Amino acid sequence: MPVPMRQSARMGWYLMRQRLARRERYPLIVELEPLFQCNLACPGCGKIQHPDHLLRQRMPVGQAIAAVEECGAPMVSIAGGEPLVHPEIDTIAAELVARKRFVYLCTNALLMPKRIDEFTPSPYFSWAVHIDGLRERHDAAVAREGVFDKAVDAIREAKARGFRVTTNTTVFNTDSPDSVRRVLDFLNDELEVDQMMIAPAYAYEKAPDQDHFLGVEQTRRLFRESFAGGRRRRWRLNHSPLYLDFLEGKVDMQCTAWGIPSYSLFGWQRPCYLMSDGYAETYAELLETTDWERYGRGRDPRCANCMAHCGYEPTAVLATTRSLRESLRALVS
Ligand code: SF4
Ligand code: SF4
Repeated sequence: MPVPMRQSARMGWYLMRQRLARRERYPLIVELEPLFQCNLACPGCGKIQHPDHLLRQRMPVGQAIAAVEECGAPMVSIAGGEPLVHPEIDTIAAELVARKRFVYLCTNALLMPKRIDEFTPSPYFSWAVHIDGLRERHDAAVAREGVFDKAVDAIREAKARGFRVTTNTTVFNTDSPDSVRRVLDFLNDELEVDQMMIAPAYAYEKAPDQDHFLGVEQTRRLFRESFAGGRRRRWRLNHSPLYLDFLEGKVDMQCTAWGIPSYSLFGWQRPCYLMSDGYAETYAELLETTDWERYGRGRDPRCANCMAHCGYEPTAVLATTRSLRESLRALVS
């Protein structure tokens, strides 16, 4: 099941309403981080380096729902840390689904066998399982043997129970076109997940491993070579065609980080999920008090190698809605 018709129609209607209201900036997806703690310690992770008292904190259900409602985004990506460590994550997801938000629960899958009974299949709910490569590559990325096999078993079980399952693959400079193709072929053809996301890793300042992040030219070459031979069209990638063009270096664009804002225990993070220049109490305050023109490649040195979807997918989606040709291309892709 690719993006359900219901979701495409709702997103189309949402985008049209924003255009009719002449809103210049608005959210497409909220990155909700209801905790920072994780049951893994990946060397490329920039989210788990907080002191213990913060790692032990959990966002109350009411606070998470109120933030999503205030912001108004139709989609919510629940991340962390590991969301399944949060004891009330099932309630947060269920409350969002009841409000007809499209929820992606990002997980490393280790706790899925223990908690899957707490979730119900729905067109509004998808698992988004972290899979960075095939067995050896993935287990190295998460610094623990056996995680790949557990994630694959959890995906199979979730699919057998009727859940929508997507995956999220982050690439580093240790990847090659061959390793990217092999993992996407496996997810697409063998596991038959509903959709796959892929993105270059962002060089978090706090990540312990600083040696394996990609530069812009390396990213473009890797994606161009990985996508060659018609694979890009064959894989069920959960990205707009324009964002994939951007990854391949066929087009360039500027970051619109306000389109995928991030809400955590600290509040609305400025300017995006990846960098923090302070926090706002509300999404409205984040929009009003952030100097958005300061951010993006060529504007802030910390953005120099960023091609992450949280900055550039909204730009691609908005450009698609403004172009009949791109809209038709997105429809048939
Ligand atoms: S699973 Fe995700 S949140 Fe946990 S350590 Fe790895 S990258 Fe960080
Ligand atoms: S380019 Fe945009 S999304 Fe990337 S780090 Fe900078 S502000 Fe964030």
